[in-house]
Parts: sequence; C-alpha cells; structure tokens
Amino acid sequence: MRDFVKPPQVRTPAAQNYSQGKEMKDNIHPNYTEITVVCSCGHTFKTKSVMTKPTLNVEVCSECHPFYTGTQKIVDTAGRIDKFRQKYGTKAAA
Ligand SMILES: [Zn+2]
Repeated sequence: MRDFVKPPQVRTPAAQNYSQGKEMKDNIHPNYTEITVVCSCGHTFKTKSVMTKPTLNVEVCSECHPFYTGTQKIVDTAGRIDKFRQKYGTKAAA
C-alpha cells in the first residue's frame, strides 16, 4: 500500500490568534447584533446581523410565501384567467 504524505498544517495568523485565545482586533469588525425581521404578513422572527438598524422589513417570509404554505396566489387584475376558462370550459378554482 502506498504511503500518503501528510499535508503541512497551514496556520493562518487568524487561526494562530484563535488557538492562542487572543480576542478579535479592535475597531475593524462590524457589530454583530440581534435584529428583528418583520414581514408584511405580520410574522416576526429574530436573527443576527451586522445591520445598524434593529429591524428589517421584508415583503415575504417562509410563513406566507406560497412555496412554503402550499397555496397558490393568482394575481389576475385583467380577468384573463376567467376569460380563458369561459372560452375553453375549464372549471374555476375553488
Ligand atoms: Zn410573511
């Protein structure tokens, strides 16, 4: 069986600092704080971010996106789907 040569241990300066218990350098890292994400559906949850604002407003989240809810939302302002159904005789959605 062939002998494999063990790769050299790469020690970056950051890894050396970490292994020696040194803390992070001052004034170069962004503040990593807890923020609240507020969705337009009303659902809120907490996460961590380097954002300076305490809240993040989003339009859609996993509580209301059709992919996760399993429901289909049809945006049909011009009534084209109804016209298609009348023309081709398909049943309207419940
Ligand atoms: Zn939502």
